[in-house]
Amino acid sequence: MYGEPAWEIKTPVDELISTILSQNTNDANRDKAFTALRARFPDWEDVLESPVSDVVTAIRPAGLGPQKGPRIRNILETIQKTRGRIEIDFLRGLPPDEARAWLRELPGVGPKTAAIVMLFALGLPAFPVDTHIYRVTGRLGLRPANLTVEAAHDAMADLFLPEQYDTAHLNLIRLGREVCHARKPECPRCPLRSMCPYYRRLKHTVRKP
Ligand code: SF4
Repeated sequence: MYGEPAWEIKTPVDELISTILSQNTNDANRDKAFTALRARFPDWEDVLESPVSDVVTAIRPAGLGPQKGPRIRNILETIQKTRGRIEIDFLRGLPPDEARAWLRELPGVGPKTAAIVMLFALGLPAFPVDTHIYRVTGRLGLRPANLTVEAAHDAMADLFLPEQYDTAHLNLIRLGREVCHARKPECPRCPLRSMCPYYRRLKHTVRKP
């Protein structure tokens, strides 16, 4: 129903910073903040020469500036110290597990952020699981109910073929945003209702008068 969505390919560092900005906000505000940040700092190296308050100001549209600003600066500083420059394209040549481990060593980079950078900017196989995907796959019974979010990354990677990861990730998020809402899922118009145990349970719940 949703087809194969396209996405804007960024450099791996840009994708990493954009993903940090996306936490707890929507795509439009993330993009506004990222554009403002790049306008203020055309070279990432410039961030390290400036007060962190400049980063906080630039990323205000994304919210949580006082948390995200120092995190972004720490990440860029760590990359600079480790690699001698702010660039992580070398990760493309590493086995996926090593690339993931390297990214996870960066301050504040969790499994979802690492997987997004791998999948969408490095061309490495990884399945990012956000709050929508976690909820939808739980309702659909695509993963054990009590699996942690971190473990769900591996479960989803095992479930789909690597060439399906990007489409499955983007379309599960879209389903979660548009139909399988957290509070009131719109099951009657959901294209997956015939295979959904959550919907079956709802349908067979007999309410006594
Ligand atoms: S049928 Fe309902 S619970 Fe199941 S995936 Fe669709 S919207 Fe979500």
